[in-house]
Amino acid sequence: MDFSPTDLTKTVRQRNLPAFRKVCLYCGRENVSRNYTCDCGEEDWRAEYRALGLEFDLGQAGIRRARQSFYEYDFDDPRGILQYALLPFVNQEGDVPETVGLTSFHHLPRLSAGYGCGVYLKNEGDNPSGCFKDRETLLCLLNARRKKASNAVIYSSGNAAASAALFAQQSEMHLLTFVAGDTYEEKVEFIRNRGSDVIVIGDEDTSFEAGYRLFSQLNYDGLYADNGYDNWSVRNPYRVQGDKTTALEIVRQLSGHVPPWVAPDYVAVPTANGSCLAGMWRGFQELFELGVIGSLPAMVSVGIENANPVYKAVKEQETNRPVKGDIHKLAEPDARIGSIIVAEEGYDSIQAAKAVLESGGTAVEVGRSHIRKALFDFLEKEKELALEHAILPEPASYTALAAIEMLVKEGALKPYDKAVALITGHGLKATEVIDELIGENAPVQKVAGRIIRQKRKEMGPKASKKGRRLQVEASRSAVAKAFIQLDEAHQVGS
Ligand SMILES: [Zn+2]
Repeated sequence: MDFSPTDLTKTVRQRNLPAFRKVCLYCGRENVSRNYTCDCGEEDWRAEYRALGLEFDLGQAGIRRARQSFYEYDFDDPRGILQYALLPFVNQEGDVPETVGLTSFHHLPRLSAGYGCGVYLKNEGDNPSGCFKDRETLLCLLNARRKKASNAVIYSSGNAAASAALFAQQSEMHLLTFVAGDTYEEKVEFIRNRGSDVIVIGDEDTSFEAGYRLFSQLNYDGLYADNGYDNWSVRNPYRVQGDKTTALEIVRQLSGHVPPWVAPDYVAVPTANGSCLAGMWRGFQELFELGVIGSLPAMVSVGIENANPVYKAVKEQETNRPVKGDIHKLAEPDARIGSIIVAEEGYDSIQAAKAVLESGGTAVEVGRSHIRKALFDFLEKEKELALEHAILPEPASYTALAAIEMLVKEGALKPYDKAVALITGHGLKATEVIDELIGENAPVQKVAGRIIRQKRKEMGPKASKKGRRLQVEASRSAVAKAFIQLDEAHQVGS
């Protein structure tokens, strides 16, 4: 069902949109594969990691249009991130299920005064599913529609699946989510309650990475594409395009929506597999190349101690091969707290490490005590702001605030510097862990409780039909069989 690249170029030219090509990140060849893989290289990991990126072919008219879309980007426009011209398929016909992006941005006056520099937060918890993943999912959805795919698969146990389930549900698409056996049942229920079918791979000894490997190999074999399923996992090259818009919005908001347009000096991003950081860096670079901003921020990757492959890749300056974290050394309390950013392998660690190094940034690691301190600093010192805008960062997001404090202590941040912490998602989906972190502190419990009640009202209802659940052994043939079985059940059911 894919357009040929020539058709696509023609279509976008007619609509005066910039043309782009999908290219392999490793061999540089143009690539139109339906499963987003490239057959270059012998190494097994290439069947698993993200292989494709987009290259835009702008021309003078394209550059003018892209710049114009930045100047006119309106935070009250229901088109949300799709106002930006440098995204694929933005002029597509058909309604967008939700407004994505246009999330709030705040100066933190007390933390700034305490640290002696400008501290800001970008609150991605404002997105429809309460997480930055919606920016990525929307781009996947537009591409799936273009391909006329009405089914999608994703491998995720957390925010990405919750976001995908919400968008699939509202677009009447069938979503099939794969999770590893070690995923909490509570999370599986959350995804099923949003209408997605779920395949649980293996038992509680099956790790995220082991499950992802099986999922990816079946993708490489063409199982999903051959059966009309688009792959919305980290492999999908359109995902990071959505993350570019976070950079655009930060520049607009930090500049007070009037020129001169300024970029922050530092941007701290909670990092697991690295896609969000890589995408945001691409966004800042584009604005620089368009001549909109005159400087670029230093990108700061922050993760959990020993579960942070991007940190390792940056320290070893390894940007050619994926790097594995020392997850066997991960402390148990850290594992629980950071569940959504704990990673053994970073499936975009090559791109993320390149971004950190190119930007002159750094990578830091934090543990439970840093996260807990950042939570108290924020909910005590910035209480009024948190209550007014219902901001309660998810546990992993406090790592970004903790990273800024670490850079202040190291003397890296100067008094005139502006540092932005990316709050990746809302704490509503992790109330238990937040309770644990707060402990017996009644005033802070009260603040968190009020924000959660307020946010619950804003979030949408559950799906009318709960998704199916299948648990299978962790083997290629068993997972493939389960996929076929659920696909058939879906066809009979719908
Ligand atoms: Zn290649």
